[in-house]
Amino acid sequence: MGDTFKYLITVSSEMPIKSWRSRPRFYRTLISNLSKALERGGLSKPKHSIRIIGAKIVLESEVDALEDLSRVFGVARVAEVEVIDFSDLKELIGKVGELTAKLVTNKKFAVRVKRSGVHNFTSIDVAKELGAYLKPYSVGVDLENPDVEVVLEVRGSRAYLHRRSVKGFGGLPIGTEGCALSLFSGGIDSPVAAWLTAKRGVKVDYLHFFMGSPKSTRLAYTAARTLTSMWFYGHRPKLYVVDLTGILNQVREKVVWEFRQIVLRTLMYLIGAEVASRNSYNALITGESIGQTSSQTLANLSTAQAVANVQIPILRPLIGFDKEEVVNLARTIGTYEVSCRVGEPCAIAPSRVRTKASREELRMEVDKIPREIMVRTIDSLKILDVLASSPNEVLPDNLVIIDFMPEDAVVIDLRDKEEYLEWHYPGALHYEDVDVESMKGRTIVLYCWRGSKSYVEASKLRARGFKAYSFAEGVDALKNYLEVGARTSCGYPANQRSLP
Ligand code: ATP
Ligand code: MG
Repeated sequence: MGDTFKYLITVSSEMPIKSWRSRPRFYRTLISNLSKALERGGLSKPKHSIRIIGAKIVLESEVDALEDLSRVFGVARVAEVEVIDFSDLKELIGKVGELTAKLVTNKKFAVRVKRSGVHNFTSIDVAKELGAYLKPYSVGVDLENPDVEVVLEVRGSRAYLHRRSVKGFGGLPIGTEGCALSLFSGGIDSPVAAWLTAKRGVKVDYLHFFMGSPKSTRLAYTAARTLTSMWFYGHRPKLYVVDLTGILNQVREKVVWEFRQIVLRTLMYLIGAEVASRNSYNALITGESIGQTSSQTLANLSTAQAVANVQIPILRPLIGFDKEEVVNLARTIGTYEVSCRVGEPCAIAPSRVRTKASREELRMEVDKIPREIMVRTIDSLKILDVLASSPNEVLPDNLVIIDFMPEDAVVIDLRDKEEYLEWHYPGALHYEDVDVESMKGRTIVLYCWRGSKSYVEASKLRARGFKAYSFAEGVDALKNYLEVGARTSCGYPANQRSLP
């Protein structure tokens, strides 16, 4: 290897104390995941080597991967290090002193040493001697509040001098603890719940319900992709997309108002459990937290689960979290920005929700949803590879109306020319100037004043094999979308989604 970056990786404190029988499996999985972390972002894996040294791992790579490695679960700390070979204490102090004298010049410093192996000196001896060597260059030793820390790890006849170091997130290597299916809305909570479960070594896949808003589903896809590419090293997750709109119509038609929310929750458990059992998952995950919404009272969670009568465990990693804690974690893991744009699906239920439904009442309401619609809904699910699929693939195939603008779309204004000239969507073409026939294969979005003409025209183009959409509710909605879409972030709690 030419220029190399050398990293000393401290694993989670749980790993070294695993029994001798299972420990190798944890290390093996971690090493494989670390290697995958080098691959992401780049097209091919850079040259690298990985070795276990005592309880730690040494990784050498031709690319700088400090941050990526720190996001591999099972890693407690990553330090970029200088490797120093030595035969006795004097040589060690000389070499380290030479490398660090400049660093401490005119600074208050502290030396921190860890040691393992057989030596005729202790870590305190190293710290004292190195301190004495460096003191003349510095403005003095300050163990409590130093400007510079010299961190040295001595392992046998080698020492590792830290250059930069970052804290990892701990947990266990993904792939050591089975697999689970996350009910993934892409809102603030469910990505955090998925992350917390993956952090414990679980391979997490996603199940998303399309509830009628293409925009929310596209954002859920983006959230899944963010989570996957930043954190799920060692796992290539699937995204199951279930079109729930048929069932939602049934719920609106048949279920009494104050039961709709909890019926929906019960149906989500039922469908989730069915998909999980068909695909051999060990558990379901939700982003529920006690009392966060009126459908998430402990009584309702318990009743919904009892009525769904599912055999698979439902994990709720956020159960004891306050919203603020979830938001902070979402910010840390990088899903907050996309999640807070997801929004809540249109009102299926009133602000007044039954907070204490009885099992019998709920069962009666759930039974109103015809079995065959449930089966049809589950059978028509889509399965995507989160990292390989393109964003539009998450949407149901027969979808004509959309409420967002795909980046690659050709946008066509169907109104009169004067109206077009007065205002049009940035980059939009006027229909009279477009040769639609040349646009087969491209994503086309039509809009008009209210969304009806564009719906008719998009449907006609669909019938002729074009990938055409109609922008929902016309120009006003489009203007509103432009305004909201331009906002890159939303403050919390200012934009807190309304809690019933
Ligand atoms: P989130 O922030 O995850 O959307 P929430 O606070 O908005 O959660 P609810 O909308 O009541 O709460 O949803 C509770 C849980 O139900 C979610 O965390 C998620 O696990 C699941 N869920 C809700 N909507 C969907 C959906 N469209 N697809 C998949 N799962 C969903
Ligand atoms: Mg939600």
